[in-house]
Amino acid sequence: MLDEISALTANVKQKAHDLGFDLVGVTTCDPPEHRDIFEAWLEAGFHGEMAWMATERAVKRRADPKGILSECQSILVLGMRHDYSLDDRVRDGYGRIASYAWGEDYHDVIPPLLKALVEFIEEQIGHRVPNRWYTDTGPVLERELAQRAGLGWVGKNSCLINPKEGSFFFLAEILLGIALKPDKPLAMDYCGSCTRCIDACPTKCIQPNRTIDAQRCISYLTIELRANIPDDLRSLLGDWVFGCDVCQQVCPWNEHARYAKINPAFKGDRNMPYLDLEKAIGFSTEEFNRTFKKSAVKRSKRRGLLRNIAVVMGNQKLPASIDGLANALQHESEVMVRCHAAWALGQIKSERAFKVLEEAYAHEHDEEVLRAIELALGNQQNDKEPSKNINE
Ligand code: SF4
Repeated sequence: MLDEISALTANVKQKAHDLGFDLVGVTTCDPPEHRDIFEAWLEAGFHGEMAWMATERAVKRRADPKGILSECQSILVLGMRHDYSLDDRVRDGYGRIASYAWGEDYHDVIPPLLKALVEFIEEQIGHRVPNRWYTDTGPVLERELAQRAGLGWVGKNSCLINPKEGSFFFLAEILLGIALKPDKPLAMDYCGSCTRCIDACPTKCIQPNRTIDAQRCISYLTIELRANIPDDLRSLLGDWVFGCDVCQQVCPWNEHARYAKINPAFKGDRNMPYLDLEKAIGFSTEEFNRTFKKSAVKRSKRRGLLRNIAVVMGNQKLPASIDGLANALQHESEVMVRCHAAWALGQIKSERAFKVLEEAYAHEHDEEVLRAIELALGNQQNDKEPSKNINE
């Protein structure tokens, strides 16, 4: 029987590699050890507006894989590389997109592969197998499962890090109603005394217990947050318009990683990894949908992306951004985008930017936007820091 399980496990792992998964491991369906840390994280409100994480049902299911699949006997954990860059140079006029979103949306690419793997398992054993699979979307602590399955360790930046291949991976899990041979967990913590990610994080959102205060994390602020970006965090976004890779870019385990191949669906292409800010702030709904139809960027919605673009324009302080921001402030229907466009013009602090704000103030009717314009115009009284191009 043990030999049969070992043979099946070996076949399943080989099939997972054939389907393009780079990391494959198996763990038991024991409840996760770190659920207390996760619950304390929820209790502290670090999940921000991501209320679906904190529902009673989600908390209960996360506490025990058998709460998701009562027949669960083993969990297959999989990792697939995506393209990335350690280049942290700012390109004026462009916004940066997190590397996981350069290619196609993993929510579309990975599920058919998980389905194919389940079908293979069912073919191998000759009958239907109870199963549930997830890629980032399920009530499972996937990084702990990955660590337990021997795929890596959870770094101080809270990412799963593989000692040979780094951390630029998508993770996926299949809960199975059959026994597979579990792998040995990776017991070592290879972070050691390194604190590069903690030091480099622009918003200092990394907590001492390897969790993230999502309310300050740039990935959360630019993707999940539906409301205004808090004023005190806007300048810390730098040039990130969608997500953030900083804590992974500085990790020495990614410097040394050598990726042999990457699924073509997850290679950077088109206008990725940089987005032309001037062009994108004028995106209509139709242009946004067309550009990001196959991309995870659609998660932020058009209004969220335009809000982020305005913030990055404000951070770059380029006079060349004034036309795009003026257009957004005068013609954009979304109040949130107009508010952030006003903020950005106030950051540019040039005569022309203030003139645009004054003109918009005369025609604006929304109280919130009027207030944002007043605040931006208040920068005239503050320091007279010149914008980058004084010859505008
Ligand atoms: Fe660990 Fe250093 Fe990587 Fe942070 S940067 S995850 S501390 S190895």
